[in-house]
Amino acid sequence: MTNRVDLHLHSTASDGVHTPAELVQMSLELGLRFISLTDHDTTGGIDEAIEAARGTELTVIPGVEMSAHTDGAFELHILGYYIDTRCQALQERLSALRQSRLGRAHRVLDVLSRNGLPISWDRVSELADGGSIGRPHIAQAMVEAEYVESVDHAFRRYLGRTGIAYVPRDKLDPEEAVQLILEARGVPVLAHPGRVIEYIPGLVRAGLKGLEVYYNDYLEPEVRFLAGLARKHGLVATGGTDYHGDGITTASAPGARHVPLSAVEALREAAERVGQGDPRR
Ligand code: AMP
Ligand code: MN
Ligand code: MN
Ligand code: MN
Repeated sequence: MTNRVDLHLHSTASDGVHTPAELVQMSLELGLRFISLTDHDTTGGIDEAIEAARGTELTVIPGVEMSAHTDGAFELHILGYYIDTRCQALQERLSALRQSRLGRAHRVLDVLSRNGLPISWDRVSELADGGSIGRPHIAQAMVEAEYVESVDHAFRRYLGRTGIAYVPRDKLDPEEAVQLILEARGVPVLAHPGRVIEYIPGLVRAGLKGLEVYYNDYLEPEVRFLAGLARKHGLVATGGTDYHGDGITTASAPGARHVPLSAVEALREAAERVGQGDPRR
């Protein structure tokens, strides 16, 4: 069965390897009909993706993935779909978040250097290429410097939560991320909820509208469990691969995970409801 939908893709606008136009081309070749570009804390790749898909059978849904934290320092990622990218409140916050990513990246390089693993800022900056900078860019520079064997190795040993060069980011409350997406007339969805399901009821009260059920390598029992949770809370069940390009996450290609076409229809309806109603409700 050919997969038609992938609602979670990253491009060079954040920590993905492929440009938005390349992702559109790959998606077209794979027979996809609906994709969403969900870069970390930026909508900078969306215009390029929409332009590249113009006149084709592929629809690009404007998206974003915002990194937030709970009080317990757990990371929660909130996806936003059908967002109005011109929303000033959203863009101002995203810009501040990208600024804080820059500061954190500098602090990570300081810690690495103090531990005898100097990495050049210029190289990391070049890898980020003006986009939303993230730990994968640092990890790639560490692979190039032969300090680690792979991006995953860099995360396990240095950059991940238990790594010696872990530097926390400025805190963003997940409820604020949900509100910002609603303010931009978008549909807020909890990304890869596998380990953070206890936060769902609170996020629903804050206005969450969807749950990423068909995610990357989630197995059937987990998908069934999450689909049940989505039904229970009246949330749209979305999904996608979280494709970043080789070596950064597990997905091998856009569309590698099956997402039902009905997810797009349900998302679109949710977007209409958000657009018509009080965005805070
Ligand atoms: P950041 O956005 O700076 O917090 O970095 C998190 C990003 O790093 C995620 O969005 C993934 O793309 C990537 N990532 C996280 N863990 C790993 C890992 N173990 N191996 C490879 N990439 C990872
Ligand atoms: Mn990423
Ligand atoms: Mn994520
Ligand atoms: Mn992602």
